[in-house]
Amino acid sequence: MDIHEYQAKELLTKFGVPIPRGGLAYSPEQATYRASELGGAVVVKAQIHSGARGKAGGVKLCRNEREIEEAAESMLGRKLVTHQTGPAGKLVSRLYIEEATNIDREIYLGFVMDRATERIVVVASAAGGMDIEEISATQPDTIIRVTVDPAVGMQQFQAREIAFGLGVDPEIVNKIVPAIMGAYRAFRDLDAMMVEINPLVITKEKQVLALDAKMSFDENALFRRPHIAELRDKSQEDPRETYASDRGLSYVGLDGDIGCIVNGAGLAMATLDMIKLAGGEPANFLDIGGGASPERVTKSFRAVLRDKNVRAILVNVFAGINRCDWVAKGVVDAVKELNITMPIVVRLAGTNVEEGRRIIDTSGLTVISADTLAEAAKKAVEAAKKAA
Ligand code: GDP
Ligand code: MN
Repeated sequence: MDIHEYQAKELLTKFGVPIPRGGLAYSPEQATYRASELGGAVVVKAQIHSGARGKAGGVKLCRNEREIEEAAESMLGRKLVTHQTGPAGKLVSRLYIEEATNIDREIYLGFVMDRATERIVVVASAAGGMDIEEISATQPDTIIRVTVDPAVGMQQFQAREIAFGLGVDPEIVNKIVPAIMGAYRAFRDLDAMMVEINPLVITKEKQVLALDAKMSFDENALFRRPHIAELRDKSQEDPRETYASDRGLSYVGLDGDIGCIVNGAGLAMATLDMIKLAGGEPANFLDIGGGASPERVTKSFRAVLRDKNVRAILVNVFAGINRCDWVAKGVVDAVKELNITMPIVVRLAGTNVEEGRRIIDTSGLTVISADTLAEAAKKAVEAAKKAA
């Protein structure tokens, strides 16, 4: 789960990461009021779940009331399209008004969970301000990577090593080390998956400040972090995914036209591959899980059908814990209840498969059966092409 910049800053500052003063605004009038509280020049920042806002007109330095109003009006209520949001963009309904900073140097600082080593990795670069992808493409030798041993946590010497690696002045080292350590503790103590401060700046006045902040959290740990769960902003999420996750389904929206209903994450991934191999494009990843009841299967159909690009549905179930007869009953119920007219391809294997096939065959519905995954994928791709 992602959160907004201002929320990440509020969390990070509690862990000792220094941030500029700022406040939230929902209207141009509030924006000018916040600016008057801060005094002097301010930066008006669109709050959306995306980086690269600066290049898209979502970060503006303003020197007077007129400029603040203009900036606020140009952002509020509009969709901001950055190279991370996709063409649909994301709705701006909040602004963060922050005192302007005299930047001397911009540093990149990120914390990620490295799945290969199962450890938190700190990534830093003296080439801050641009995204990490751009840094690794254009200035890879500036990248510093430090792995944290989970038994002892991040050590002061590691933060100092990063500071020296960045080539900061000795007087700055003592300011940047607590910022790095604080961001690490926030990552660890809040069950974060990612913390990115880009840029972490050194000001002309020799202060260290987190000018931007991004945090993302492990959704499986939210049950024990209610104050983090409250920060969720559904307006920033893919509505298809929000609908599914609110109903306990494991769903990821994709861009194609073949809806997928599969049990098991591995089989779901294999199904996407087989669809691609057969020349089609999946509309989603959906894992219905083990022991799925007919109701859960129907619920999955509802979720898949909310995507208006879907032209055919592929149900692929290998029943171990699951039961093919339950899945089959779920398919039949869904088709009747939801009046589904689009082609549905069903491939069942495993526990109670004969009973499952019998339920489908005697239902009187025109469901396309398949014996293997390859055949199912081919039939689904054909059906979607015909419907297009
Ligand atoms: P992003 O584009 O979504 O990553 O938004 P950022 O908050 O990182 O802002 C983009 C860029 O705007 C930063 O890298 C800075 O160069 C610049 N910027 C942001 N805040 C200030 C500020 O207070 N003063 C100045 N001079 N530049 C700023
Ligand atoms: Mn940034």
